[in-house]
Amino acid sequence: MKKLLQEIIRERPLLGDGAMGTQLMIAGLEQGNCGEAWNLTHPERVLAIQRRYVEAGSECIITNTFGGSRIMLNRHSDADRVVEVNKAGVAIAREAFDGADGYVLGDIGPFGGLLEPFGEFTKPQVRSAFEEQAGALVEAGADAIIIETQTSLEELSIGIQAAQAAGAKCIIGSMAYDVTLDGSTFRTMMGVEPERAAEFMEEQGAHIVALNCGTGMDMERARMAVERYKRVTGLPVMVQPNGGKPRLVEMKVVYDETPEQMVKGLLPLLEAGANIVGACCGSTPDHIRAFRKVMDEFLESKGIEPNGVERESQAL
Ligand SMILES: [Zn+2]
Repeated sequence: MKKLLQEIIRERPLLGDGAMGTQLMIAGLEQGNCGEAWNLTHPERVLAIQRRYVEAGSECIITNTFGGSRIMLNRHSDADRVVEVNKAGVAIAREAFDGADGYVLGDIGPFGGLLEPFGEFTKPQVRSAFEEQAGALVEAGADAIIIETQTSLEELSIGIQAAQAAGAKCIIGSMAYDVTLDGSTFRTMMGVEPERAAEFMEEQGAHIVALNCGTGMDMERARMAVERYKRVTGLPVMVQPNGGKPRLVEMKVVYDETPEQMVKGLLPLLEAGANIVGACCGSTPDHIRAFRKVMDEFLESKGIEPNGVERESQAL
């Protein structure tokens, strides 16, 4: 039987995937349109992107369901398709592995608003939206649920509880940190420090503590975050930094860290004990391919067979 994600990564680090949003744009998605609806209307395009990540060496693929909650889909008048969009997202990611034994991470992004008393959404509304989404992802066979790009512990806890209610076998909480203006540290937009986030996630019953996206969070900052997490928790750690800093060029956001630049930070990240490494906005299959090479060399130096997901019975 396939090992649980939180178990296998205690034995060997796994490689995640790269950006989905930017790849959807390249494939023709227009700004402001619903990328998650493509799971139903253009599944072959979503599949082609995820296949490229698998071919580049990804062992964990995140479903194209970031904005797949009822609250998010409602903005595109797709709220009646929550279950279909999320189930199709899992099926496409699974198909991308083409029978190989990879891990499908069911993605839940922020609901996109503010909770009362600051905003117009009540906790029960957000909870039921996340429960509905998590339920569809789990039912479709996702190996884990990742609640990502989170900035507040309140919303994160609603996501974790929804994933628990859905019966998720593995729950990942992923925070988006911003480097402070003076560059001395990083915390979320809502002021959450990594240590507090990790302790909170462990209390709440998450299995993996993670970070993704954020502002100024390059590979070196991600390494620092891994160390800060590991200081307060024994849970495995997942990191997905962005492919550089966003810049506005001709009214388009571009990320310009090349695979060669980004991969330089990978070995220190692995040495710091990162258990899953992928990348967020602006990264491409080329970034992941560069990661694969360095990760395989790292595994070899530790006497671990590369591409362990498929050969785990021999390697372990
Ligand atoms: Zn991102």
